[in-house]
Amino acid sequence: MMRSAVPPTRTHDLVLRGGRVLDPETGLDATADVGVTAGTITAVSPQPLTGLRTLDVTGLVVAPGFIDMHSHSHDVIGHRLQALDGVTTALDLEAGLSPVDEGYRQAAAEGRPLNYGFSASWCQARMTVVGGLPHGGGIAAGLRNLGNPSWQHEADARQVDALLELLRLDLAAGALGIGVVVGYAPLIKPEEYLAVSRLAATAGVATYTHARHLVEQVAGTPIDGAEEIARAAAETGVHAHYCHVNSTSLSHTDRVLRLMDGVRAEGGRISTEAYPYGAGMTAIGAAFLAPEQLGAAGLTATDIVYAPTGERVTDDKRLRELRASDPGGLAIAHFLDENDPHERGFIDRALLHSSTVIGSDAMPLVWTKGPADPMAWPPPPEAITHPRTAGTYSKVLRRYVRELGALSLVEAVGRSSFEPARLLQDSVPAMRRKGRLQAGCDADLIVFDPDTVTDQATYEHSTRPSTGYAHVLVGGVPVVQDGVLCLDALPGKPVRT
Ligand SMILES: [Zn+2]
Repeated sequence: MMRSAVPPTRTHDLVLRGGRVLDPETGLDATADVGVTAGTITAVSPQPLTGLRTLDVTGLVVAPGFIDMHSHSHDVIGHRLQALDGVTTALDLEAGLSPVDEGYRQAAAEGRPLNYGFSASWCQARMTVVGGLPHGGGIAAGLRNLGNPSWQHEADARQVDALLELLRLDLAAGALGIGVVVGYAPLIKPEEYLAVSRLAATAGVATYTHARHLVEQVAGTPIDGAEEIARAAAETGVHAHYCHVNSTSLSHTDRVLRLMDGVRAEGGRISTEAYPYGAGMTAIGAAFLAPEQLGAAGLTATDIVYAPTGERVTDDKRLRELRASDPGGLAIAHFLDENDPHERGFIDRALLHSSTVIGSDAMPLVWTKGPADPMAWPPPPEAITHPRTAGTYSKVLRRYVRELGALSLVEAVGRSSFEPARLLQDSVPAMRRKGRLQAGCDADLIVFDPDTVTDQATYEHSTRPSTGYAHVLVGGVPVVQDGVLCLDALPGKPVRT
């Protein structure tokens, strides 16, 4: 199992000494030294290694850094919260960006703590082609316009062609796949979703879908949201990734998971992802938060909290006012009650299903006073978000590994690192060097205490960083050292096809 690219006598830049080393791909779980040189893991050895610098990590776990396939937290402060949750690569594959190059250029110019990457955004391309809105503007524009009905209606053939052309350009620019938040324009023709899936299949990349309603939720939906994804995988051969299967399937989670199992059994390529919270967060203007749509998800207006003020919405009238005055304003929607064992069961089964990886759906911070300050640290009280932004991965380690014993430590680490890398690596070769703790792989490494690692963020205190991480290395560069965030560390690199 132990591989060594260089003789063990070599002096490494850095040696992590004596930790419990986990490699989910090989199942390695043993005490070893890990050598790092020039951003790469240069040795994993049961024998002591020599380094220019040595960190004693006895009693701690050394693992590949977490790869988040679903992070809308694009800026520095968002990356820092995720770094303290064990994330070393933050990818926005569900919403994505169009033009994608704008996002890569901005991140490269400003610097990022974590590795980053984006899919091509069907929604932002559609906002331009169908909605006539300006192309681009990043995640802020995407959220601001998410609830704008102008881009959500059926497209004619010419518009679909123009949409596919924009997506083609984004794929040529290195986009990691196509993000399709069809749930935000739930009345489009199923043919359009199939055409987008066909484009992805032809390009050899995956689609990342926020499904539209299920038939149990909205009887008149043009197509069942889960059947649509299954059909696309079967008819086009695309790898279809079912984003946050927990938050769109809700009480129909078991039916959806069975359907996906059936497609896989027939050879279809479908993967699923989940986060361990009962509430969602999105723009309050989203189509599925319209008062007349709430019943579909078993919600009432009072299940919604408007994040900029913390106001719990009182009734449909107030919801309409907020959707009109600030359609892009983020809101928390309490879909499933985590304190109710029956409802919690849906979250647990979505997350624990054998084909599910962990994806946080980390959100941008909402600044309730004054302009956004992405360099502020620690996050000031006026910056708020969903607790999943800061806590997803550590909550999985706390709850599913330590409290429930439902996942082994190496399984939980695997679903958070190696499994995402494996899902991506056919279309994104760079991912073959990530999510593994082996010589020759990228030195994206985390060192944590398995007995104490935990989430700290709550709905009330949403930006409290997780705790328990001694070191987080991105490309061999410490982003967290001795439990403290390194404020000048911006080693993140772009991930492209
Ligand atoms: Zn989503």
